Amino acid sequence: MVAIVMLQSTRHRSGAGVKIMANAHKLDCEAVSDTCRFIIQSEDEEEAVELAQKHMKNVHGQEYTGDELREEYLQVV
Ligand SMILES: [Zn+2]
Repeated sequence: MVAIVMLQSTRHRSGAGVKIMANAHKLDCEAVSDTCRFIIQSEDEEEAVELAQKHMKNVHGQEYTGDELREEYLQVV
């Protein structure tokens, strides 16, 4: 399975002006599975964790808590 989810969250954006690129939170499923190339990347950590949880459950049948995913797999890029 090959899938890349890139999210551009607008929730925290404020008005006009120059904005420094926020760090993105990234989870590369390759760290969990040898065969899965699913990558989630979002500026919103909550969103990234939520999607990762869904993916892990739906695709890999594994349940992770948000904390587990944050500590073990989520990278800041
Ligand atoms: Zn996967």
